[in-house]
Amino acid sequence: MPAPLKFVHTTCELPDAADAVVIGGGIIGVFSAYYLARRGLKVALVEKGRIGAEQSSRNWGWCRQQNRDARELPMATKSLDLWERFAAENGEDTGFRRCGLFYLSNSEEELAGWARWRDFARTVGVTTHMLDSAQATERGRATGKPWKGGVFSPTDGTADPASAAPAVARAILELGGTIHQSCAARGIETEGGRVSGVVTEHGAIRTKTAILAGGAWSSSFCRQLGIRFPQAAIRSSILAVSPGVTSLPDALHTAAVSVTRRSDGGYSLAISGRGRIDPTPQQLRFAPQFLPMFVKRWRSLAPGGLEGFRSGHETLVRWRLDAPTPMERMRILDPAVDNATIRLTHSRALDLLPALKNTRITAAWAGYIDSTPDGVPGIGEIAAIPGFILAAGFSGHGFGIGPGAGHLIADIVTGSEPIVDPRPYHPDRFGKSAWGKVADF
Ligand SMILES: Cc1cc2nc3c(=O)[nH]c(=O)nc-3n(C[C@H](O)[C@H](O)[C@H](O)COP(=O)(O)OP(=O)(O)OC[C@H]3O[C@@H](n4cnc5c(N)ncnc54)[C@H](O)[C@@H]3O)c2cc1C
Repeated sequence: MPAPLKFVHTTCELPDAADAVVIGGGIIGVFSAYYLARRGLKVALVEKGRIGAEQSSRNWGWCRQQNRDARELPMATKSLDLWERFAAENGEDTGFRRCGLFYLSNSEEELAGWARWRDFARTVGVTTHMLDSAQATERGRATGKPWKGGVFSPTDGTADPASAAPAVARAILELGGTIHQSCAARGIETEGGRVSGVVTEHGAIRTKTAILAGGAWSSSFCRQLGIRFPQAAIRSSILAVSPGVTSLPDALHTAAVSVTRRSDGGYSLAISGRGRIDPTPQQLRFAPQFLPMFVKRWRSLAPGGLEGFRSGHETLVRWRLDAPTPMERMRILDPAVDNATIRLTHSRALDLLPALKNTRITAAWAGYIDSTPDGVPGIGEIAAIPGFILAAGFSGHGFGIGPGAGHLIADIVTGSEPIVDPRPYHPDRFGKSAWGKVADF
């Protein structure tokens, strides 16, 4: 069974013109369109497949500040408030709850790292509690094991990956925006060097602003426009088990396995950082940029297969605007599940939380996590093409910071005071320095 995802009804008919066109209906695209529509802009969002069907429904649902890289922490903090405010503004349910995130460890080194992060987080007003052995063991009693320590971040939370993007999409429609599923953007048109339209498989929309929130497809799209955006995808596998167990923490991380309560009462189970690299032409092209990231993370990565070539998301091919593109051949990127990882994840979860023996596996799926060389997203206007805004490369953190990123993009488009300092995210850095500092967590 694939990742659960709610369906949202949308329109087929494209408008002739819009103030802004958002390309991609993942969490970043929908929140960008939402904040633009709230400011009274006429927004059209085009999605080649279904709203939320790629990474944004395949993730764990964690919305965390805990252990967040300093460059992303302000956006993570703002996003938690925005998740809450979104529900209050619209009455739409994204499943967001500030349930707190709970980490357990028996490694002195890991605990020392978390304590260092706690000390840093204090300096920017973020509260997180280190737990000593007795506190960790008590809070982690569902494991039935003693622990050396842990950390609890009470202001963090989770949202529901099956409902979040569709809920935001409904809010966009309510505000008068239009959404077009099964509608791939093939490229953009320019006049005098700046954006003048977005060309889709169903026709063109005149606009001065195009926002590319295309997740794992963004680099190959940028290539058509002569923009160099180093990006690589890691295949990550995850499973869900049935509801019925109520005594477990809402969101628990250990080095062996992580467990998250889903909105239906079941749990998602996954191993943090573990993934497979499916080689693609694009990965070979950008390999030198990703070396520092690889050196940092190689222990949890394994070689994959050839499906990255078949999927087409990291192609180096140049396509035409008047013929089907790789995006129309692959409406929903649905990579093969790594069965060995699923078996390992499940057995580790049963070992960690014996109560899970009373559940059954209801679904298993994989997703391609789109990453940048430094693990920080690329958000900002591309100087060479005024009106073209990139918002991609969320490197495994984009769900939780989706509202903040969407707000920032709307700020950039409307020239408003940015919700956070946009400089750490600007895509210019990929041109200036091949090897930026890789995100710590
Ligand atoms: C297994 C897994 C676990 C994760 N866990 C977490 C977590 O706990 N917390 C967290 O914060 N993040 C997590 N992430 C990362 C998070 O899911 C992503 O960072 C986030 O969803 C990215 O959102 P996006 O909108 O950029 O991309 P996507 O959700 O991938 O959306 C991009 C959309 O653009 C569409 N598209 C692309 N090109 C075009 C085009 N030319 N025309 C029209 N449409 C186009 C695609 O069809 C797709 O729907 C996880 C990811 C995975 C895979």
